[in-house]
Amino acid sequence: MDRTFLMIKPDAVQRNLIGEIVTRLERKGLKLVAAKLFQADEALAKEHYSEHTDKPFFNALVSFITSGPVFAMVVEGNNVVEVTRTLVGETNPSKAAPGTIRGDYGLDLGRNIIHGSDSNESAEREINLWFNESELNDYKLNNEKWVYEE
Ligand code: UDP
Repeated sequence: MDRTFLMIKPDAVQRNLIGEIVTRLERKGLKLVAAKLFQADEALAKEHYSEHTDKPFFNALVSFITSGPVFAMVVEGNNVVEVTRTLVGETNPSKAAPGTIRGDYGLDLGRNIIHGSDSNESAEREINLWFNESELNDYKLNNEKWVYEE
């Protein structure tokens, strides 16, 4: 099983969308391994988005991510990085397909609802950045045989 890091951004927290988004993940069959409502400080936001340090939108992005609590999650499932990137939709919500989280809930590139790791390497880095090992729950969902063939 693979793991990924998802973060419901401050815009979606303020718009009371945590429940709807988590429901989508649960209905898909994905397993929640960790979750917390969390106020990121500037250092964490900068580290999380370090690949974008030189981009013109970097400062605005950091101030957006630290503007209120985010809902950080670790989610597990087969091929979960690709599966969740598909569920999340493309970066610009005004272009994201209907049926995706960004496509259904967002309109603006700077208010795009949710973050999802883009590779297994970023997932590992981001999980370690946002969570301690002790916060990751190792358990079995008893519906697994109804979600996966084997
Ligand atoms: N972003 C932005 N303006 C841009 C491009 C990106 O505000 O012109 C923000 C947006 O919140 C996006 C994040 O920067 O989710 C990271 O960008 P990336 O290209 O990694 O997109 P993602 O992986 O989130 O789809």
